[in-house]
Amino acid sequence: MPSVDTSRPVVTPSGGSYTDPVAVTISHEDSDVELRYTTSFYHHPTAESDLYDAPLEVREKTYLRAQAYRDGEPVGEAVAAGFMFFDPAMMAAEYDWQPQPEKAAMMIVFAHPDDEVVPFRGAIPLYGTVRKLPLVNICMSNREGVEKDQMRRKEMEAAFHAYGLPNAPLYANFPDDCYGRPVTDCMNTWGMMETVSYVTEQVRRYKPDVILTHDFYGEYGHPNHIVTAIACFDAFKMANDPGRFPEQVESLGLWQPRKLYAHKAHHNSWIHDWDTPCPELGGRTPQEVAQEGVSCHKSQEAGFVDYQGHDFGLILSSVGPDVKTGDFFENIDTTIYQTVPSS
Ligand SMILES: [Zn+2]
Repeated sequence: MPSVDTSRPVVTPSGGSYTDPVAVTISHEDSDVELRYTTSFYHHPTAESDLYDAPLEVREKTYLRAQAYRDGEPVGEAVAAGFMFFDPAMMAAEYDWQPQPEKAAMMIVFAHPDDEVVPFRGAIPLYGTVRKLPLVNICMSNREGVEKDQMRRKEMEAAFHAYGLPNAPLYANFPDDCYGRPVTDCMNTWGMMETVSYVTEQVRRYKPDVILTHDFYGEYGHPNHIVTAIACFDAFKMANDPGRFPEQVESLGLWQPRKLYAHKAHHNSWIHDWDTPCPELGGRTPQEVAQEGVSCHKSQEAGFVDYQGHDFGLILSSVGPDVKTGDFFENIDTTIYQTVPSS
């Protein structure tokens, strides 16, 4: 048995990160097959997909899949190649970030760069920039030293600058992986205990009253989102328990957050209004500023589905349910916080 599957098409180049458009060819060892392809992450090739007959000019984020056909029947397996594009000016930009607040009003815990805005929309512009509450933002995936991940960090820095936030996000350094796989795969690659320990440590360190995280169904089933949400749930319950991760307690102490919200959770849930213009945002709405942040995640742009970030559920609360609704800080006195300086 040959170890290389020559029945697959060959995509050249085989994917990667680019700043300029790239010419991509698809070829096959057999000249008598038809090569058909798709360019969306969500679509696999069929016998009716576009027929490859000349090099493709790829200029935006593309997930290319190609499959050979003979007489309308697939030959061998499909091949896939991902192409990402980055803005060189954004990659070179440097920002003057302030240190993290000593005590956070809200901690936003999300899985990937762009998740700070895709599910949570106007949360950072409204609570951080308009209401000037100290926020700590934690991105669970994305690894130090991985070139593609570094580029996505620069995009997220540009987005945070656009939100007007004084402090940059923190990174937990777990891998961006497991999309389309069972959630248990991510529990194993990240380590469920390591993940809960990390979030518990940050809760003890930054002492947030409100934690905001992902949908427990993973937004669209993404295991990284699910594990992030579970870790927030566990950390909410463990951070004030001296028996949990006791090695953290001496230096950080204990902390009991008051509210945990999850996106799209149907428990004491309500719709957030991001559409009121705010003088602190130059007359723009939190939603409009959020959209500016979305556009900073240039490498991801073509991958965004039309995604609504309005509905949230209060999963855990030590201050009772939301009655008035519309404010993550209902039942919490926000005058105690040191407001953040304007950037
Ligand atoms: Zn994500």
